[in-house]
Amino acid sequence: MPINRADFDNVMVPNYAPANIIPVRGEGSYLWDQAGNKYIDFAGGIAVNCLGHCHPKLVEAVQRQASKVWHLANVMTNEPAIRLATKMTNDTFGEKVYFANSGAESNEAALKLARRWALDNYGPEKSQIISFKKGFHGRTFFTVSVGGQASYSDGFGPKPGDIVHAEFNNLDSLKELISDKTCAVVLEPVQGEGGVLPATTEFMSGIRRLCNNHNALMILDEVQTGVGRTGKLYAYEHYGITPDILTTAKALGGGFPIGAMITTTDIAKHLKPGTHGSTYGGNPLACHVAETVWDIVNQPELLAEVERKSGLMVERLQQINNRYKVFKNIRGKGLLIGCELIDTLNGRAKEIVNEALNQGLMILVAGANVVRFAPSLIIEDQTLSDGLDAFEKTLALITEK
Ligand SMILES: *Cc1c(COP(=O)(O)O)cnc(C)c1O
Repeated sequence: MPINRADFDNVMVPNYAPANIIPVRGEGSYLWDQAGNKYIDFAGGIAVNCLGHCHPKLVEAVQRQASKVWHLANVMTNEPAIRLATKMTNDTFGEKVYFANSGAESNEAALKLARRWALDNYGPEKSQIISFKKGFHGRTFFTVSVGGQASYSDGFGPKPGDIVHAEFNNLDSLKELISDKTCAVVLEPVQGEGGVLPATTEFMSGIRRLCNNHNALMILDEVQTGVGRTGKLYAYEHYGITPDILTTAKALGGGFPIGAMITTTDIAKHLKPGTHGSTYGGNPLACHVAETVWDIVNQPELLAEVERKSGLMVERLQQINNRYKVFKNIRGKGLLIGCELIDTLNGRAKEIVNEALNQGLMILVAGANVVRFAPSLIIEDQTLSDGLDAFEKTLALITEK
């Protein structure tokens, strides 16, 4: 029996509502569904497939490691994990790495570390975590509670405590909450799920200053913005600050599940043997794929190309907007771009995404009013242009309605 979309409803927990088509094959920035229809991929598996689909070097990396050793658990270390961590510490502010399997788990480790660091250094009073409204940090109970959307965190019983939410890009709102009882301030450099909203430079440097003044850790969640997405290896480099803890996942494995937390030696030392762990974290197969991604992405030429393509994309989106007058705002960093809909199109981002799929283009929403793009970092100019043609056609149809 051929598999079809209706089977999903029969056998899967209904927490997702996937599209009607089922992609079966990918190559670069293209995907094909069961019927052989071709799609241009501007969604990238939600900012994961940073090198597109089935990049030959990643296919090779999987195959190479698959024939050596797949898994050891952390009772043993492994060569790919140490090689990857060495690259990550050489190329970022960090000195120590903890591996996980997802963004949420990387953040979970960061939050637990911050709490333990504060307990060891200052005692139990210093446990407050400040995050931001509309922030997104994953779906484990701790991370979803730190996230700034009640609709995601409510309805599961009592939440982890001492978490408060300030207004994003509003330093005064943070000043009102922060004190010597604050153990960490957590944010995304560009709020991804919350609407592709970049933090301003003043906001970012203000947080750094306030954290220093109150001996609080600054945690940057770069799960979506990391690994070249914004045109820098990590987005903090745009801001001239360094965090105390950084988390990364999504693009890190280019489609193979892996996440990581990066920090300094002084902070890392509070996660002593036995305090935290993960069976799969630092799995050799995942780490070998990730070190291959890292080597490809962390090149000045590739990162410069991300900036250039971002410019092309924004320019074309502005032209489209001049014609159809559908966006209030085109924003983002690098190849993470969001278009906020005008008030008369309020709530219709999902409808645009659905229509784009009919036009052979995969895009994303970021909330009800923002259309989001996160294409491959190495998408070809022609494919980018073809995808934007399909997007323009989509908007022509939507505005006709
Ligand atoms: C996607 C995302 C997460 C969660 O990552 P998972 O791999 O889904 O657990 C956390 N933070 C940010 C900023 C994200 O975009």
